[in-house]
This record gives sequence, structure tokens and C-alpha cells, in this order.
Amino acid sequence: MALDALLSPVRFGPIELRNRIVSTSHQTSLVHDNIPTDDLAAYHEARARGGAGLVSVESTAVDPSGRLTPHTIAGFVPEIVPAWRKISEAVHAHGARVIAQFNHGGREMITSGTRPPAVGPSAVPTARYHAEPRALTLGEIASIIDGHRTAAAYAREGGMDGVEFLAGLGYLPAQFLSRHTNRRTDAYGGEAGRLRFLVEALERMREGIGEDRIVGLRMAADEISPDGLTADETLEVVTEVARLGLVDYLSIAMGSSSTYRGSMWIAPPAPLGSEGVVSGAAAIRAATGLPVIATTRIRDVEEADLIIRRGDADAVGMTRALIADPELPNKAAAGRAAEIDRCIGCNQACIGHYHAGAPINCTVNAWTGRERTLPRPAPAERTVVVIGGGPAGCAAARYAGPGRTVLFERAGGLGGQWRRALNGPSHGEIAEAMIANLERWTADADVRLGTEATVHTVVAERPDHVVLAAGASPHAPPLEIGDGTPAIVDAWHVLGAIGAGVPDGPVVVWDWGADWTGMIAAEALAARGAEVRLACGGLALAEHVHQYQRNLYLGRLHEAGVELVHHVRPVAATDGAVRCRHVFSDREVVIEDVGTLVLAAGREPDGSLYEPLLEAGLRVTRAGDCLGARSAEEAVHEGTLAALALAADA
Ligand code: SF4
Repeated sequence: MALDALLSPVRFGPIELRNRIVSTSHQTSLVHDNIPTDDLAAYHEARARGGAGLVSVESTAVDPSGRLTPHTIAGFVPEIVPAWRKISEAVHAHGARVIAQFNHGGREMITSGTRPPAVGPSAVPTARYHAEPRALTLGEIASIIDGHRTAAAYAREGGMDGVEFLAGLGYLPAQFLSRHTNRRTDAYGGEAGRLRFLVEALERMREGIGEDRIVGLRMAADEISPDGLTADETLEVVTEVARLGLVDYLSIAMGSSSTYRGSMWIAPPAPLGSEGVVSGAAAIRAATGLPVIATTRIRDVEEADLIIRRGDADAVGMTRALIADPELPNKAAAGRAAEIDRCIGCNQACIGHYHAGAPINCTVNAWTGRERTLPRPAPAERTVVVIGGGPAGCAAARYAGPGRTVLFERAGGLGGQWRRALNGPSHGEIAEAMIANLERWTADADVRLGTEATVHTVVAERPDHVVLAAGASPHAPPLEIGDGTPAIVDAWHVLGAIGAGVPDGPVVVWDWGADWTGMIAAEALAARGAEVRLACGGLALAEHVHQYQRNLYLGRLHEAGVELVHHVRPVAATDGAVRCRHVFSDREVVIEDVGTLVLAAGREPDGSLYEPLLEAGLRVTRAGDCLGARSAEEAVHEGTLAALALAADA
């Protein structure tokens, strides 16, 4: 596919972009004391070097009240100018354009630790962060609006090509726009006044940035929240902004910070797709005549090209796709789209790290967020044996070359534990994308599927080095078994044998880790027609899954009729019941009428070959779950590190 539409230049007001691929604003935590670090410059430089047309740096405060954490860029202080200059020079050196995005969260008080007071147009609490704001005074509103001019002038001085106003997604400008959250009776409220904050802020931004650079507006096509802007209301707002000539382009996303359901559309996890945002962007483009960026989980370059070709949008935000593979545009332009590493839509290390207060990384790319610190592999001729075809082993095999790399995998395909997730209704797409990456990473290796590695077979390859990435196996907790015990099976078995029919009787899935496994098994069994209760031993279901995935799963499990039981650990299975203990009170909780108990009870690392291989005189590096069972993010990182260590060793 030629991808001509996606790769053609486009003009936003006075600025031309070399192509239509945009890295839209996203938080990275590569910010120290409210000033971007050199790591952030290197991060954006990598996306520019990879061929992106436009890079929008993350949400930046224009006023002290919008500086939620030490990781929020303070765009209103003079110290920001040299930091902007470092970023703009790094990006411009590779031919891309770069802008700053301005945002004030208002009542959306994301920070942990000692919280500043939340503010909003009116004192209306918010449902996701449970912040209780006070209404801004007129003086405070004037100060925030003026901050947009100051911050835009600093962005100009720092060499940025423009500024973008994040006015949707439930943040402060959207709170002014919504009749539910703006109950003011002064000049900033009522039918006539709700738009005023937005208009005045955009006017100040233009004054600060100048006519020769761009001003953009980011809105949600639909905020999908009861107190947010509807699609019709957003259309009214952007039509008026276009009529007033305030902006050069529109960036259209979805969702709102203010509710659990709305927030998951801000960075929608798989299997949510881009259809809603693209149709909304198309309607807005037709109504306003402005160039439009459509952005929300546009997965691959073929989909992106089609969106442009159909005339639904003028450019596409491929933010997570570029987090996963910064070289995506260059590969697409060189006819090598098949070599693009796929974002799997897990949200774990990008926005998941942000919400955890950690620097941005990526599950499938160990260099993301480590552009300055992680060396690139140094190719060397050697023979490497990799044991295990999961993410850790495949990442190691990818960078072990160019000598001879032999990969032993006991199963019939690559993927390790991901092969079981293929059978989860919500997880199949993530697993497919991950396995596609693993198959590409090992294309040059001698992959031996269905082959159990032994010391004998490994030694026979005469390796210079061995990477042991043998994964983990299910943990079986001690359970007292009595008469009439329900059938007891492991969640891995259930997922591996998904076509094998419905288990006996009503099912209880016990989810020890508040992670993926129990949820995937429960949803898969419900889809097969089983009556399912999901009993959780953690503080809350999906406590260790990124909140947007968690929100999606909780909605889907509810729709599937899965009943949730909280705060229990099973101790006995007898008389058609599961006897549990409450994890806080230790009182007995009996779950009656159980035909099958499915256990998702954690994992045990499989490092059994490590010492025998050492005793055979081999050099062995361990990576992934065989070191300690965790997630694919750590597995890919450690597999990559193992390969880099080979280079140092060569
Ligand atoms: Fe995509 Fe997951 Fe990487 Fe985020 S962490 S960019 S969702 S693969």
C-alpha cells in the first residue's frame, strides 16, 4: 500500500507539516521540578528522527494553580525558555514541527501526596478523582487567562512552532463550557458567558505566540460523561471558534477525565477502536472547514491512510503507535510497514506509568523513555541459545544476532503466557498484537517450537551464551478438600482449553492478584455461557491493571452478568461450596452452590535449568518471569538487557 495520503504534506495556517503523522500531547514524567529534562528532549527527538510530522509536547501549566505535580511543566516561568529551546532544536534538527500544549485541570485533581486545592468554575465535585473544588474568583480567572499569553510568549522565545489549547476532555475550559459544571451567574456563566473563558484564553495565546505560528484547539468529539459536553455541544463550540478565526487547526479526541467511563476514552485500551473519534472528527471538519487531527487509538498506518484518504481528517494522532515504534513514519515511507513494532494497546507503561508517577516507558520498546541512557545493541558474531519463546526470550533473540540464535520453545507457538490470553474476549487483540511482534522479532532466529530445552540439547548447540527465559507456571494454593468438593481447575487451563465446553455447574473464579488473569478467565467463561462469580483477594478488582483497562473490564464484566465478590481468600472446597476468609476481618465467608472453582492464584518462576546449565560450564543470563513473575513490560526490558549484556560480553 502506497500510504501517499498519510505521507503527504499538510498546512496548518502558516506552518507546513512534512506528513500527517502526529505525536499528540501525552504526559511522560520526564520533567523535574516542573521543567522538562534532557530525557524529554531526547524522547521527542527520537519521534522526530523517526519521521513524525508534528510533535506536541505534554500538557503544560499556564498558572501556578495548574501545576499539579512536580512532573507538570510550568510554562509560565522564564526558566522554561531554555528547556523549550532544547526540545525545539532537537526536533527541528530532524525536520519535524513542535508545539506546546496548555492545560489546566481545574477540578480534575490528579495528584497524590499533599494536594493543592482543586478549583473550577463552580463548586461541583468530580466523580473520578473525588475532588471537591471551590469556585474561582474573577481575579483568579483573569490571572489564569493572562497566563496563556505569558506562556505562549515563552514558547515562542523557546523556538516552538505553536501552541495548542486543551479545552475538552473535562478539564478546566470544558468545565466552563458545560452547563453541569458551570453554574456561575457572572460574565463567565450562563448561555452567553460559558464560552468566554475559552475565547479569551485563545486570544491571549495568539497574542503571545504571534501570527506566524500556529494555535490549535483540542476537544473531545464526545465526552461520554453525564456532566460533560455532548457531541452536539462540542460541535457548537468549535463552529463558533472557527467563525471567530481563533485557531489554525482542531485536534479531536474522545472522553472526559471526570468519570470512570469517560476517562478510558482519553487513551482507550484495546479492544476499543478509533471509529467514534473518526466519525466525530469528520463531522467537525465538515462543519468548521478547519484542518482536523483525529486521534484516539489509530493502530496502524493503513488505517491512518484510509482516514486521510476518506477525508475524515487532515492528520492523525498516532501517539501510542509512536511510543511503541518511533520509526513508524520512516518505515512506512520506505515501504517497510510490515517491520513496524505494534503498540498492543495495554496502556501499562505509557499512561499507566504516568498515573503511577513513573517515567514513560513502553511494554514493547525498552528504549522508550530511556533514549539517552540505554545503549543500542552492538552486533557480534556468536552462537546464542534462548530458552523460552515468550516476550523475554523473543526480545533477547531479536538483539542477540547477527550470529546463530537458536530459540527453544516447548509450546506449539511463540507467546508464552500470552497464548492463553488469545482466548479472552477483551484480551484477544492485545495478545494477537504482542505475538505478531514476537514472531517478527525472531524471524532471523532458528526457532524450534514444540521443543523442550534440556542441558543436553543446549550444550549440543555449543553456545557462547544462553539466555534463560523459561517463564513461570501457575501457583496452587493450599486448599482443604472435603466431600462433594467442586471441580478445581487452574485459570491457565481454562483459557488454554477454551473450546472445550462449559465447566460443571456455577463457576467461581478466584483472582488472587487483582490483575489480568482472573478477569480474562471470568469473561471468557461467561462468554461460553457459564454462570460466573469473580471473587477477588485484593483490595479491589484489577488493582494492578491500568485504570482505563480496569474500567473497561469492569463495564464488560457487568454486561456479561459476572457477579463480583470482594476481599476473600479460599481455604476449603467442600460440600459444593467454597469456604473463604475475609482478607481484612478473617471471618468466614461461604460461597454456596459452586460447581467449579477456577484458580488464578499467582505464579511460580521456572528457573529449574539455571544451575544445571551453569554446572555444564555455560554462561547463562536469566530474564523475565523465570527471575520473578511479573508482566511483559519487565520481560521485554530484561530480554533486551540480556542481549545488550551479550554485546558487552563478546
Ligand atoms: Fe502501546 Fe502498551 Fe507501549 Fe503504551 S505501553 S505505547 S499501550 S504497547
